[in-house]
Amino acid sequence: MRGIPSSALILGGTREAAALAARLSDLGVPRVLTSLAGRTVSPEMPAGDLRIGGFGGVDGLASFLRMENFDVLIDATHPFAATISQNAVEASALTGTPYLALRRPEWQAADCDNWLSVASIRDACDTIPASARAFLALGRQHIGAFAARDDVHFIVRMVDPPETALPFRSCDLVIGKPSADVETEAELLEAYRITHIVCRNSGGEGAYAKLLAARDRGLPVIMIERPPAPGGRSHPSIDALLAAFN
Ligand code: NAP
Repeated sequence: MRGIPSSALILGGTREAAALAARLSDLGVPRVLTSLAGRTVSPEMPAGDLRIGGFGGVDGLASFLRMENFDVLIDATHPFAATISQNAVEASALTGTPYLALRRPEWQAADCDNWLSVASIRDACDTIPASARAFLALGRQHIGAFAARDDVHFIVRMVDPPETALPFRSCDLVIGKPSADVETEAELLEAYRITHIVCRNSGGEGAYAKLLAARDRGLPVIMIERPPAPGGRSHPSIDALLAAFN
């Protein structure tokens, strides 16, 4: 791409997408439209315009791009949102709309970390040893997959209480958000005598403290790796992405 675009469609749903919308607006891009899937009831208003809801697959997204004639399509969705990212690459190819991805780097294990890398939630479930006390550091939509493990005690943290009972034979529910403070996360590991953490390799700083706390304690982390990226140019930061316009 050459120069700052006149219009950008940002596929959002992440902090990075909101920050990018703000940066592009600050740079004077006349039209910045953020698209959200609609999973959050009252999303924060990004800088620029907002639309909410699916496009209707690749064809729907391609029609939208043709109709609205955006200079660039920027995929700033969560690294585990694989369908919309694949759709974005394909719709970009169909319409000739330049495509850029903003994707936060994966967390990397240090030599002293004890990570067990797995490819899926199902593999993670199979990897937990019997009698473990496993902290499911996962969104609530993913925890049901672990219900069959009635030989494991689960610790689940949720921001809001669940509407229905958790599907486990044995579990503790912690109401609260992930903390960015390592000591706070260490206290949780200690208080619930956690023996394993199960999480996805989302990257970013917000949920990293628990991994540092696990490192300090030599605790095993069952790390669900990302789905393969769909191709196209990917940038690890907003600055790197903006540099692509020069
Ligand atoms: P997904 O499986 O890749 O997408 C499912 C469908 O949701 C897509 O086919 C698309 O519908 C619609 N969609 C997704 N993102 C959209 C967007 N930004 N704008 C318009 N439509 C969108 O995604 P997901 O895992 O359900 O995640 C949904 C959204 O939540 C994403 O935007 C993502 O950034 C955000 N998010 C996801 C996670 C996660 O763990 N997956 C975590 C934090 C935030 P159509 O085919 O009809 O277009």
